[in-house]
Amino acid sequence: RQRADADLYDAKRRRRGLLPASLDTPEAEDLLRAITDGQLVVRYQPVVDLATGDLAGVEALVRWQHPRRGLLGPDAFLPLAEATGVVELLGARVLRAACHEVRAWQRRTGTRAGVAVNVSAAELAEPAYPARVLRALADSGLPAADLVLEVTETAFADVPTMTRSLRELRTAGVRVAVDDFGTGWSTLSRLDQLPVDVLKLDKSFVDRVVPGQGCTPVVDAVLAMARALDLAVTAEGVEHAHQVAALRDAGCDTAQGYHLQRPVPLDEVDLARRVRVPA
Ligand code: C2E
Ligand code: MG
Ligand code: MG
Ligand code: MG
Repeated sequence: RQRADADLYDAKRRRRGLLPASLDTPEAEDLLRAITDGQLVVRYQPVVDLATGDLAGVEALVRWQHPRRGLLGPDAFLPLAEATGVVELLGARVLRAACHEVRAWQRRTGTRAGVAVNVSAAELAEPAYPARVLRALADSGLPAADLVLEVTETAFADVPTMTRSLRELRTAGVRVAVDDFGTGWSTLSRLDQLPVDVLKLDKSFVDRVVPGQGCTPVVDAVLAMARALDLAVTAEGVEHAHQVAALRDAGCDTAQGYHLQRPVPLDEVDLARRVRVPA
């Protein structure tokens, strides 16, 4: 199976003349083996509705349960995965795991929370990507409306195949979020034409929200623009209670961050209210 995955991946890349950084290094071999051996695990971070305090969804975040080095975050292996092209296989595994785990969790707990999955530019460039997503939904039974695909702002740079795929998926009911919004501003001039539903306001903007001053002018401006374009906004990296209050009062829809809850195994996601709502 591992061999088959590796062969498939290699042959496909060679056909496309896209032979990536060498897979013949010990690190790359380790990573490919980890993916095919099931050493990747998914942690889930709650996304909270700021108006009601309810759990709105969770974001799936990949980890590598390394036999010697412990639980590794994506910073330790995503760059290599991107450079070697194995990120496509990694993404497919995370997507399937997230759909199946979240559907089982919805059945177990009765929660209506859905899941957001991070997608790399390489996956989206693959014409077979929409079919892969639709198959993961069909196989798991997860409703399309319960899936959000997060694409970083910089990944939107290559438009043609990507927007076609995203349009197809949105027609099926899947939502699309611009991740780390505001770090590139590359999407700003055509935001009204992109197939997106949600802006994820980058943590660097949330960091500048300090006590006693409401939101910053830039955050207020992003929220106003999102309202005008009928996009929802999720604030990332909320670490303090005053940020929750300021963002809620400014009309931000949802938020996630260590102040609310860190990424955890799905069964540890707090289903109770995390935000105090003013009477
Ligand atoms: P992201 O999608 O912007 O995810 C948010 C990151 O911020 C996560 O880091 C999360 O743990 C962290 N975070 C959340 N709240 C806070 C907070 O209050 N303070 C601070 N300091 N950090 C917070 P993580 O899990 O290390 O992931 C890093 C990045 O790796 C993600 O950024 C995403 O771009 C990428 N990534 C994660 N999982 C996947 C995946 O399955 N596929 C792909 N292609 N990329 C992934
Ligand atoms: Mg994300
Ligand atoms: Mg993000
Ligand atoms: Mg980020």
